[in-house]
Amino acid sequence: MKMQYFHIAREVSLSSKMAKRMGACLVKGGKIISSGFNERKYSKLARFHDSKTRHAEISALLGVPKDKSRGADVYVYREWKNGRIADSKPCPPCLVQLRLAGVDRIYYSILDGFEGMKL
Ligand SMILES: [Zn+2]
Repeated sequence: MKMQYFHIAREVSLSSKMAKRMGACLVKGGKIISSGFNERKYSKLARFHDSKTRHAEISALLGVPKDKSRGADVYVYREWKNGRIADSKPCPPCLVQLRLAGVDRIYYSILDGFEGMKL
């Protein structure tokens, strides 16, 4: 677990317009290969009632070929707009996608620090 990647995930999260801003970055071989933040998913057909959110981990995975994501680590950071750190343990559907992408380990913020686990 390297704190520098949490700092980057936090920087990315600041682009989010959600009440709880979440950022994620994919790291492989000491390099950031992708990043993303949580945002509302709009579609032309369901513009006003679609309140579904695209989670930061999924945004980070979008467009990344599997041979790149395989063996990567993901760092996820979440905080409230007031800057208070929040739990960012990936939800079950995101865990499935991370696993399918071949991600090796995930690290995430919790209320009083950080945790990690192997997928
Ligand atoms: Zn999720």
